[in-house]
Amino acid sequence: MIAFYEWLQLTEAGLYCAPGDFHIDPSRPVNRAVITHGHSDHARYGHGAVLATPETVSIMKVRLGEDSAGLFQSLEYGLPLRHGQVTITLHPAGHILGSAQVELNYQGQRAVVSGDYKRTPDPTCKRFELVPCDLFVTEATFGLPVFRHGRDMDEIGRLLESRRSFPDRAHLVGCYGLGKCQRLIALLRQAGYDRPIYLHGALKSMTDLYTALGQQFGDLVLVSEAGRGLAGEIVLCPPSALKDRWSRRLADPVTAFASGWMRVRGRARQRGVELPLVISDHADWPQLIDTIAETGAEEIWVTHGREDALVYQLGRMGKRARALALLGREDEED
Ligand SMILES: [Zn+2]
Ligand SMILES: [Zn+2]
Repeated sequence: MIAFYEWLQLTEAGLYCAPGDFHIDPSRPVNRAVITHGHSDHARYGHGAVLATPETVSIMKVRLGEDSAGLFQSLEYGLPLRHGQVTITLHPAGHILGSAQVELNYQGQRAVVSGDYKRTPDPTCKRFELVPCDLFVTEATFGLPVFRHGRDMDEIGRLLESRRSFPDRAHLVGCYGLGKCQRLIALLRQAGYDRPIYLHGALKSMTDLYTALGQQFGDLVLVSEAGRGLAGEIVLCPPSALKDRWSRRLADPVTAFASGWMRVRGRARQRGVELPLVISDHADWPQLIDTIAETGAEEIWVTHGREDALVYQLGRMGKRARALALLGREDEED
């Protein structure tokens, strides 16, 4: 049997599939790239050709421009595509709209590159699909045993409770513009919240794209069209706007921030966040361990975050595990 590193290699641009001559989520422009999802540390400008789900292609075109790659090719989930001696299949990763795990079959071996993923159901994207494999390349953004995320609906409940307690204040929720913003809106609607939800202008283009792709968000209003105050209302903005002049137009806002990092008290304090909401789009520690075990993979490569603790734990579970040092991965988007 051929060793994995003979056909999956690490180059300066990232993970490279030699028999197919393409990179996965490369950190710099390459000839051919397979892109797992639209977040900026995975989907970059300037590749010769991009293969991704139709949703990710749309997201890249809106975020980076129609001409951000020489050629875009869409591939639906679950449809095997033969490329050279490799077969590529994309499977839902449950992370954001269009996010995919990349399954590669080569000479009887099956590798799955997870990209970012979570197992928690999310009303804005397809649920993570478990793909049995020989090699699993996993993210480890929350790869420490202290990270256990809890229920997203409990966090939404805390936001709604705070709003009832402080009817004279606006509730300003910082969230990343791709994925988290749309998930928050959908969760609020699931919780029965039917008031208009107010958006900072920077959140509009991605939310419009989700709507165009079939999401139903109810009544959304731009803050710029709503005037000042907004006491008793819920307002979403990018994290950078939480403390900026822009927020002064709101009535004594309660500042909240929705992110898996809100589990870490220091981070909330640093940002001056009054109401930290632990809502994550990444697998927490138990989800990482369970998913890796369920794939049945004997070999695990760990990327994207806190590799060491996970590599150690997998060793104790009898797996061959190693850390892949990929450059250019930040935890910006959670
Ligand atoms: Zn991501
Ligand atoms: Zn990422």
